[in-house]
Amino acid sequence: MGLLTGKTALITGASRGIGKAIAEKFAEEGANLILTDLFYDDQAKNLEEKLNQMGVKAKMYASDASKFADAQRVVEEALKDFERIDILVNNAGITRDNLLMRMTEEQWDLVINVNLKSVFNLTKAVQGTMLRQRSGSIINMSSVVGVSGNAGQANYSASKAGMIGFTKTIARELGSRNIRCNAIAPGFILTEMTEKLSEEVRKEWAEKIPMKRGGSTEEVAKVALFLASDLSSYVSGQVIQVCGAMLT
Ligand code: NAP
Repeated sequence: MGLLTGKTALITGASRGIGKAIAEKFAEEGANLILTDLFYDDQAKNLEEKLNQMGVKAKMYASDASKFADAQRVVEEALKDFERIDILVNNAGITRDNLLMRMTEEQWDLVINVNLKSVFNLTKAVQGTMLRQRSGSIINMSSVVGVSGNAGQANYSASKAGMIGFTKTIARELGSRNIRCNAIAPGFILTEMTEKLSEEVRKEWAEKIPMKRGGSTEEVAKVALFLASDLSSYVSGQVIQVCGAMLT
């Protein structure tokens, strides 16, 4: 029996990168999967098919996590298909890096809405279901730069720091109902998001990491599995850094 057998997880931004790795790891452990991404494209369709072939029920919904009404709609639709939601992984995220001097209002608003407002939107949308079930695990994908800050990422760092404040608050508000809320703060993880950086910047990052390498999406997914499952039944309000000791 898998660690998540009988549970249903909702993962945002799931068609590639860390979200996809989490979907695959959760499926290996028996979870049914409600997946969202901006578009239901080939990438999304292929993942949906692969997960269903693994013997779990998986469905991908096109949805913009930054839009409040869309989050309500997708959870309503998903509940008709799945009946319950035990785990929420707020994973959708973007970067629009620039020094503050050059950062536009649009770049600020977009990153705050996609990375931070989405967490409010989806958590609000699943809260009633988790309260009725009297259990739940909410996992927010923050970042080490939400803890440390990073030049050129005022919008992104602020959004990821905001997620940590939100995580701790929800853990306090909903703890008495057996709903846990934790954040993962990945360091430098090799995905399409980090592939956009130049070879030089990637080398520089790796040099700064005591473990001398970037992490894999699977290494983040394993921590998400721990937080989603009963292995972490008394862990709430925490930020787990998955960064090869980059930030200690
Ligand atoms: P990624 O490869 O760029 O994947 C992000 C996913 O989110 C994509 O599937 C994307 O959809 C989706 N998405 C974007 N905007 C969305 C929206 N408004 N609504 C729904 N889905 C949306 O990123 P990643 O590297 O896997 O990162 C996943 C999370 O980890 C992010 O929150 C990121 O900030 C965080 N993180 C990553 C790293 C790292 O080193 N990679 C480090 C720290 C934290 P499309 O395919 O349609 O664009």
